[in-house]
Amino acid sequence: MKNDLSERLPEPQHPKEFYISEVRKIMQVRKRGKVPMALVHTYGCQQNVADSEKIKGFLAQMGFSFTEDEEEADFILFNTCAVRGHAENRVFGNVGALKDLKRRHPSLIISLCGCMMEEKQASEHIKQKFPFVNLVFGTHVLHRFPELLWTALTASRRVFERGDEQEDARIVEGLPIHRDGTTRAWLTVMYGCDNFCSYCIVPYVRGRERSREPEAILDEFRSIVADGYKDITLLGQNVNSYGKKLERPINFSQLLRMLDAVDGDYRLRFMTSHPKDATHELIDTMAEGRHICHHLHLPVQAGSNRILKEMNRGYTREKYLALVEYARKKIPDLSLTTDIIVGFPGETYEEFRETVSLVREVGFTSLFTFIYSPREGTRAARLPDPVPYEEKARWLQELCAEQEKISAERCAKEVGKTYRVLVEKQNEKDGLLCGRTDGNVIVLFEGSKELIGNFAEVKITAARNWILRGELIQ
Ligand code: SAM
Ligand code: SF4
Repeated sequence: MKNDLSERLPEPQHPKEFYISEVRKIMQVRKRGKVPMALVHTYGCQQNVADSEKIKGFLAQMGFSFTEDEEEADFILFNTCAVRGHAENRVFGNVGALKDLKRRHPSLIISLCGCMMEEKQASEHIKQKFPFVNLVFGTHVLHRFPELLWTALTASRRVFERGDEQEDARIVEGLPIHRDGTTRAWLTVMYGCDNFCSYCIVPYVRGRERSREPEAILDEFRSIVADGYKDITLLGQNVNSYGKKLERPINFSQLLRMLDAVDGDYRLRFMTSHPKDATHELIDTMAEGRHICHHLHLPVQAGSNRILKEMNRGYTREKYLALVEYARKKIPDLSLTTDIIVGFPGETYEEFRETVSLVREVGFTSLFTFIYSPREGTRAARLPDPVPYEEKARWLQELCAEQEKISAERCAKEVGKTYRVLVEKQNEKDGLLCGRTDGNVIVLFEGSKELIGNFAEVKITAARNWILRGELIQ
């Protein structure tokens, strides 16, 4: 019998340890004692990166090592993103490209998971068009990965599993994590989103907002610090509404203070902060923190009040600017970054220019810019959208050109200043060390690779757009 979305698997019969140990045994037999290899491709936001680290944690427990080489992989997973159509099309293209590999290696297991797989039509498309895909599962059933993989291996049928309302509301603690980096770590503090911005698919594929208990977060945070990670980012779609639904309510500023009290040589960041819920208390907490970075990612999306209303963002241009003014007063060296959508349905050129003027007024360190992408099932996808894509692409270029000027002006002012830089890697091309300031700005400088993973004092000597060049202060 074929399992499809309407024929869900029965409740698991065994604890997850059973499936972990069974998959390990099956793979040992298949590989005749050699270590099985897994390749995990991650698309989209940091939340997906954090989810992939959990899947890799399970894979490591099941005896897998990791590879970047498709030819040597026994298991290939695409962790997908549904936020824009472009990312979805890339996934379809990349999965299609595996057909020949699967023909040459019939025992290869190909799997897809993530936000896109919570969309019925995307999952159906994979089922119909890519018969060589073995396992598909959505974000809500990630904690059942060992059982789903075991079923795919033993039942000789394709497995397609998505969440339901119950799974939607649940947080499963205690999942293993295989962190990718050695200096930066991601810590999810909440899942889902209740905001329903009119263009956004996230609430439909990640479910309702739910927060982890502060004690669970604190435990994980302590172990990340103890493991030597020095740049820790708290993740949530809107961290400013953290804790609102917990039995013992606690707000995000209180959580930040609790974590900031943990001793150690590290930096603490968070994303994403929704402007409608960002409070003065949050800014004050940042200003007073011992480890909290002076960096705020505060997605504005648009500069016109009519468009902000259509987007259902819950703030006005004036409210956003007032918050920025308060934050700059309290934290003069604050680095602000933002997300912007260009070409929301019905946006006029004059309204787009209001975004450009807001960008100029705030003086962001950097922007993440997107051309509006219609997402089926969202309110905005039903609105008339008369501006052609090519025109929107020109607007985007105009916005980026303005930001380049702003970044160049900002960076030029950095020359001569000294920053504490967390060294992340050595560039392969030029051998320069590459690190990040507290404000999340990249700095390149000469130095020994022993510095990787440590903080270094660097004097800025030159600036090119948003990248700074510096020299190490001994
Ligand atoms: N929760 C975060 C917030 O509200 O700022 C953002 C999450 S979303 C994964 C990241 C960014 O993708 C958004 O801030 C928005 O700029 C962009 N985005 C979301 N839906 C989009 C769409 N339909 N078309 C283009 N960009 C979109
Ligand atoms: Fe999407 Fe808005 Fe939620 Fe962000 S806050 S995830 S943009 S609905």
